[in-house]
Amino acid sequence: MFIGNLTTAIIKCLFLVVRNPGYRLILRAQSILLRASKSFLSLLLVLMLQGDCWDDGPAGSASSSATSSSSSLRPWIDTHTHPTGIDTDCFSESCVNASILAMDAAGLKKAIFINPPAPYNNSSSAKEAGVRTAAYYRTDRLFYGIGGSMLQARIDTMPDSGVATEAQKSEFESTFNDLISSGPAAVVVGETASLHLSYSANHAFEENPANSDLFLLLADLAASHDIAIDVHIDVVTQTMQTPSFYVTRSPNNPSTLQPNIPDFEELLDHNLNARIVLAHVGRDTTGVMNSSLMDGLLARHSNLYAQIAPQVGPADAGDGIVDRTGKVRSDWLTLLQKYPTRFVLGSDIFWDGGTTSSLLQGVQDFLQQLPSDIAYQIGCTNPVAIYKLSSGC
Ligand SMILES: [Zn+2]
Ligand SMILES: [Zn+2]
Repeated sequence: MFIGNLTTAIIKCLFLVVRNPGYRLILRAQSILLRASKSFLSLLLVLMLQGDCWDDGPAGSASSSATSSSSSLRPWIDTHTHPTGIDTDCFSESCVNASILAMDAAGLKKAIFINPPAPYNNSSSAKEAGVRTAAYYRTDRLFYGIGGSMLQARIDTMPDSGVATEAQKSEFESTFNDLISSGPAAVVVGETASLHLSYSANHAFEENPANSDLFLLLADLAASHDIAIDVHIDVVTQTMQTPSFYVTRSPNNPSTLQPNIPDFEELLDHNLNARIVLAHVGRDTTGVMNSSLMDGLLARHSNLYAQIAPQVGPADAGDGIVDRTGKVRSDWLTLLQKYPTRFVLGSDIFWDGGTTSSLLQGVQDFLQQLPSDIAYQIGCTNPVAIYKLSSGC
């Protein structure tokens, strides 16, 4: 019995050291001991004596999963992850399997792979195929979406007026049909972008009215195929100076930003059968995405869903869903309880073959703070309903 518990504790210690930054700090702090013994077993012994590796150890606190056991992890489905970065990809089987390890460490049961929103000059059939191929390696854990590269690039080709020619609409529709018939069921069209601020010189700025002809056409196509749309909008409620963070970080951003909510509401009203998921809600990139704004949008549009990114955005104005300590703000919690079926989770992680991720852990820390029924609803039930997933948590 003891040997069995000891074995479990050793495995758990190794697991904790690998996945938790906190334990890696402990590892550094205890380097004297390690140098003296030159044995990793010494570190394990210290951690075990601290009691953190035993299943009957102290329960995890609401905001610190470093002390919660793996059995206390709350299950969830990540509806927004990327196996493609600006210069990298995670299309190989080994990279995907490493991603699965990171998922396991954060209680993440399933994930949707999508391309980030490609700018007009970066349409890539290879990236569309790469995301699909990567998701196919582990159909037990992964789903995929279409169009983040090829459809979004076409949307980004439109003039500021948003008016498309008949030829452009026809070409867009045939591309959609090619992608959606290219393999077993895709679960979302995304990532698309209406306003996408740039974070660096080689990261695109994209601005496309959400009521452009191609966005409206996409709503019709998605509705007819019963597939959700993921849309990135850095929300702007009135003409504003671009926050200095973005101006400093990238020359691609304009000096001023234009309101984009009315265009988005027009898209929502265009086809009520189109399920539209607003990405990165709660990250508050522009300082105006607060709970009351989201409350109004959800109240007015039954086909709108909010994808929570429980992260502090660069424009942290005190209105994000979590504060700088990771604590859920009470007004947002009230909103989750008001619309329990309208929220999902999206980490926006870029898979890179690493087996740990603070982004995934941040979502788990967020879930730990919610009432258990709300956590399960948002983490597991809603994604299945909104994305029509074939399996859940
Ligand atoms: Zn995005
Ligand atoms: Zn994204």
